[in-house]
Amino acid sequence: MDLEFTAEQREFRAEARAWLADHVPARPLPSLETAEGFAAHRAWERELHTDRWSVVSWPVEFGGRGADILRWLVFEEEYYAAGAPGRVSQNGINLLAPTLFDHGTDEQRARVLPSMASGEVVWAQAWSEPEAGSDLASLRSTAERADGGWLLSGQKTWSSRAAFADRAFGVFRSEQGTAKPHQGLTYLMFDLCAPGVTVRPIGRLDGKPAFAELFLDRVFVPDADVIGEPGQGWRVAMSTAGNERGLTLRSPGRFLAAAERLRRLWESAGSPETWRDRVADAVAGARAYQLFTYANASRFAAGEAIGAESSLNKVFWSEYDIRLQETALELLGPEGELAEAPGGWAEDYTFALAGPIYAGTNEIQRDIIAERLLGLPKGRR
Ligand SMILES: Cc1cc2nc3c(=O)[nH]c(=O)nc-3n(C[C@H](O)[C@H](O)[C@H](O)COP(=O)(O)OP(=O)(O)OC[C@H]3O[C@@H](n4cnc5c(N)ncnc54)[C@H](O)[C@@H]3O)c2cc1C
Repeated sequence: MDLEFTAEQREFRAEARAWLADHVPARPLPSLETAEGFAAHRAWERELHTDRWSVVSWPVEFGGRGADILRWLVFEEEYYAAGAPGRVSQNGINLLAPTLFDHGTDEQRARVLPSMASGEVVWAQAWSEPEAGSDLASLRSTAERADGGWLLSGQKTWSSRAAFADRAFGVFRSEQGTAKPHQGLTYLMFDLCAPGVTVRPIGRLDGKPAFAELFLDRVFVPDADVIGEPGQGWRVAMSTAGNERGLTLRSPGRFLAAAERLRRLWESAGSPETWRDRVADAVAGARAYQLFTYANASRFAAGEAIGAESSLNKVFWSEYDIRLQETALELLGPEGELAEAPGGWAEDYTFALAGPIYAGTNEIQRDIIAERLLGLPKGRR
């Protein structure tokens, strides 16, 4: 690929940089895993949306800028380099929106996307269940036919942001006794404050309610909130999973910015020789990931599917992130362990530990790489 940016891409970068320089809050917002922080991050989404920066890759009619994938990557680089806040609307924007673009109706897109783009409605992903994580198809929550819609019952867990979010999307068993477990599932959206929903926050390692478990007792959902055909939920869900592991969840911008912060931290500590190689590894790793992602994005822009290669991305960024954060904590010494220490390294480190688990565990990703990219025989399940 050609590594030179076009004049249009450079202009887009300059416009994003200028806007962010004028708008990014001077002081970091409170953690979005608190009620106060959630509200502050929601207000930030609104501000981004005012000038069409909240969903740059969406069509203009839904509040976006119609940016292609390379311009989206450029925006992400500028976003993180500017130290802008984490995105509270990430689940909706990265997971539900692509699903609606591919499988939703015009009515659903017109109804759901604008309030997602503005942060007015924040979405949670309700896929995992106590007995259904990696083996998602073994899920047991049900959708039962009712007049004009469906009744949802069962339990979902590890739903990020659900402690404070407004709505959720998930997969439910709508037919019993199918030949295969991934048949007879239906993909639905529902309100987290609907009658019959109990949201019970789950504390993270640092005590903040970053997740919730959801108990659903005959929660009514109208037909208008089914995405795709009833019974075809697995197909719909898998297109979302590809997005999650692939390009959208962790763009290189985040790691380029973190590696740069680490480099500055190292310099401010007097550039100690002991840490030189590890800091250099972090900087080189971020750059390698950036180039790998550009290569994937170029293939994608040329009409190729990314497919199983998204698993390579997922394993790389999740392991890289832990190494980077560990280096920062070791550099900081005992002070780094303090949750409220400057730079937020301790919170970032504890979150990085979850990277090999969420968005499909790395063991599962390695199986995909082995079977689909390397052509190795299927492992025992
Ligand atoms: C920070 C974080 C955020 C999350 N956010 C959400 C969210 O918003 N919404 C949501 O629905 N879920 C969310 N999850 C849940 C996440 O998707 C699951 O934790 C994940 O899919 C793993 O499922 P599990 O926890 O049930 O573990 P299990 O599937 O029980 O796995 C346990 C261990 O066994 C291994 N294993 C299982 N099956 C195989 C196999 N066939 N081959 C090899 N190894 C295997 C796994 O890799 C893992 O190491 C989140 C999790 C985390 C940590």
